[in-house]
Amino acid sequence: MESYDLVIIGGGIHGVGVAQAASAKGFSVMVLEQTDIASGTSSRSSKLIHGGLRYLESGEFSLVSECLYERALLLKLAPDLVELKPFYIPVYRYTTRRPWILHVGLSLYALQGRLYPAARFCRVPQKLWKKLDGLDTAQLEVVFQYNDAQTDDAALTHAVMRSAQQMGAQFKISATFTGARLGQLGKHTNIIEYWHHDKAKTCTAGVLVNAAGPWVQQVLSRITPTPSQLKVDLVQGAHIVVPGTLTQGVYYVEAQDKRAVFIMPWRGNTLVGTTESTYQGDPMDVRPLPHEQDYLMKTLINYFPRYRSEQRILSAIAGLRVLPSGGGQNRRGASSINTWSRETILHTGRQDPPSLLTIYGGKLTTYRLTAERVMARMIRVLPVRKVIADTRYLKLY
Ligand SMILES: Cc1cc2nc3c(=O)[nH]c(=O)nc-3n(C[C@H](O)[C@H](O)[C@H](O)COP(=O)(O)OP(=O)(O)OC[C@H]3O[C@@H](n4cnc5c(N)ncnc54)[C@H](O)[C@@H]3O)c2cc1C
Repeated sequence: MESYDLVIIGGGIHGVGVAQAASAKGFSVMVLEQTDIASGTSSRSSKLIHGGLRYLESGEFSLVSECLYERALLLKLAPDLVELKPFYIPVYRYTTRRPWILHVGLSLYALQGRLYPAARFCRVPQKLWKKLDGLDTAQLEVVFQYNDAQTDDAALTHAVMRSAQQMGAQFKISATFTGARLGQLGKHTNIIEYWHHDKAKTCTAGVLVNAAGPWVQQVLSRITPTPSQLKVDLVQGAHIVVPGTLTQGVYYVEAQDKRAVFIMPWRGNTLVGTTESTYQGDPMDVRPLPHEQDYLMKTLINYFPRYRSEQRILSAIAGLRVLPSGGGQNRRGASSINTWSRETILHTGRQDPPSLLTIYGGKLTTYRLTAERVMARMIRVLPVRKVIADTRYLKLY
């Protein structure tokens, strides 16, 4: 029977990130992915490697500072995949967040980014407003400009996977995790069962990492003895792609219900997102809903009136966030702003020492930090191995 130090379920950014961090520490790793690498949330995000300016509103300062640190690192490690871009925040007479609030927020953001040039912001002089991709200037009071980064989420996930593979990690695609019996062959030998190429397979693992994103609970339900679970909401976020591109950068606007929406250049077209509504159902079935597409199109037209004459949607995509329970809105209900915490939870349950770790939530931006934290939690359970690399220095191609 094949045997690994770690078996990871899920080939999204977290699964490949943990595979990279673990193999850099010299551990043997296998990743099971039921569909394809980055086929889940990790190809359906807003594609931003960002500090998360809006998290300042909910006082999540340490999250912002961690995100900005990881952003700086990724700009160095993956210059072909992560690109710094100008971001514009137009403030109109009717905008809820007033210029002084944004000024305070952007100043805090710059401080959290240690005042490096990439963290600074300015006001765009009025004479330059006409260069802003046809942005509506009626009732426009101020336009702020700051910097954040954009990536190709699926390409980044593949690059991290290649980095892990170079250090020996194995990836099994179209391999569905079907069950695990923890501690079956002694304290830290867990039996893992999966389905691959129409065959039932078995292997052993010292540690099991559940990085199944929106399928997190489904995976837990296949493990014995039954592990403890956290209550989470699945929150749907949709994007639309419309024809025509933006030349100046990304626009960060306020929708009618006061939520923040990004309008950004994407592969020669324009990507608009996102929505936020709780989701119940199989994660495999998530689809952008007609009312979400209308909402995003209305927001786009409000700020870029040229889209009124051609309201064509080239494509639409929806993904699911995993957020701790207790906030938000009903799928059909009225919107609310940022009522969910954005924290990433690493859960090992009551078992001590643990043989299973579950990743709840998370951000593309902080995948490396999350992976390092997973390893810091699990390292005492694993055998001593020779470290071969440090993820802070591993270039991504
Ligand atoms: C709409 C939206 C916008 C976002 N925008 C941003 C952003 O701009 N910036 C940012 O930093 N973060 C963003 N995020 C968050 C970020 O995208 C996610 O946190 C991240 O992609 C989650 O990755 P993951 O690996 O945990 O999950 P996923 O990418 O969903 O991967 C889980 C994988 O597990 C596999 N799997 C499930 N069950 C099994 C099984 N039984 N056997 C084998 N494999 C299985 C699935 O097929 C899937 O590939 C956004 C999220 C959403 C929803």
